[in-house]
Amino acid sequence: MHFLSTTAKKRIQMLAVLAAVGGSSCMAQDKLANLAPIDKRMRAIDSVSIMRILEKESLGDPATELYPDWNNNYATAYGASMPKAYKIDLRGFHMPCENNRLTSSYGYRRSFRRNHYGTDLKVYVGDTIRAAFSGKVRIVAFNRKGYGKYVVLRHHNGLETLYGHMSKQLVAENQEVKAGEPIGLGGNTGRSTGSHLHFETRFLGRFIDAEKLFDFAARDIRADYYLFSSVGRSRLLTSDEAVNLPGNDVLASAGIAMTDAEREEESRLYQEERRKAIRSQVHRVVAGESLSSIAVKHKTTVKALCRLNNISVNTVLRVGQILRCS
Ligand SMILES: [Zn+2]
Repeated sequence: MHFLSTTAKKRIQMLAVLAAVGGSSCMAQDKLANLAPIDKRMRAIDSVSIMRILEKESLGDPATELYPDWNNNYATAYGASMPKAYKIDLRGFHMPCENNRLTSSYGYRRSFRRNHYGTDLKVYVGDTIRAAFSGKVRIVAFNRKGYGKYVVLRHHNGLETLYGHMSKQLVAENQEVKAGEPIGLGGNTGRSTGSHLHFETRFLGRFIDAEKLFDFAARDIRADYYLFSSVGRSRLLTSDEAVNLPGNDVLASAGIAMTDAEREEESRLYQEERRKAIRSQVHRVVAGESLSSIAVKHKTTVKALCRLNNISVNTVLRVGQILRCS
C-alpha cells in the first residue's frame, strides 16, 4: 500500500514536470511511456495469477504433471514414476455424504481374510453422494462382485477418490466436477451387505487410509496438507511445516510446480495463523479481572504471568492493559 502511494506520488510529480516541459515533445512522450509499465505490470501479474487458478480449477486435466495418462478403464494401474515426496493440499474437502457414521475402517479384515482399502460410511439407498474435491470423472463403471456401481474421480491436488456400492451414478466419464457436487446415490450394489458408501483415497494408485486425512465425525480435514512419502513415513503437515517445506517442484521428481498465486495464498494463510496465535498469547484486561482469573483463562499460573510481564502479584491491573500470557 505504502509502495503504491509512493509510486502514485512520483507519477504525479513526473507528470507535473512533463506538463511544464511541454507534453507534446518526443522526450516527454518517451517519459510517459516509461511510466506506463508500472501499472501495466501489476495488472499483468494479477491476471496471470487469476488465469493460473482458473486453469487449474476448471480448464486443464487434474494433476497432469503426476499422472502420465488419462484412462477410463483402470482403477489402480498407472505405471507412473513415484515422487519421493508430495505435498497434498487437502483444503477444499467436502464430505462425500450427509451421514458421518463410520461402519468399517481401512485395514485388514479378519472376517474376509483380506485388506479393506476403503472407509465405509453409513448411507441409505438414495442418499446423495458428493465429490470430495474438485476434479474430473475418470471412471464410471459396474463391478458385480466388487465395488458395484462405482465412480473414480481424479483431483487437482493429486489424489484420486473412489465411491462404491452406489444405486445410481449421476456423472459421466471425463466430466468435470466441483467439490460437493452430487456424483451418485447411495446404495447396496456389488459385494456389499447393507447400504453404505465405500470411499477410497489413493495417490498415484497407492491406497491411503482416508481417516488419516479426514476426520469424518467432524466432517473436516485433519490438517491443510498431507505429505505423501514413497520412501519414508507419510504424515500430516503442521501449518509451520507446510510453509517452510519447499514446493512440490523441489519435493517431487515428477515435478509439479506451485504457482506464484498458490505461494502467495499459502503465505497469507500462514500470516493469518501467526496473527491468531499471537492474539491467543496476549490478554487485554477487562473490568473485574484479576491475575488469577486471567491465569485460569489462559491455562497458566499467576507466577508465570508476573514473570512474563515484569509485574508482582500486588500490581493493580488497568482495564485495557495488555498482558503476555505465554
Ligand atoms: Zn468398504
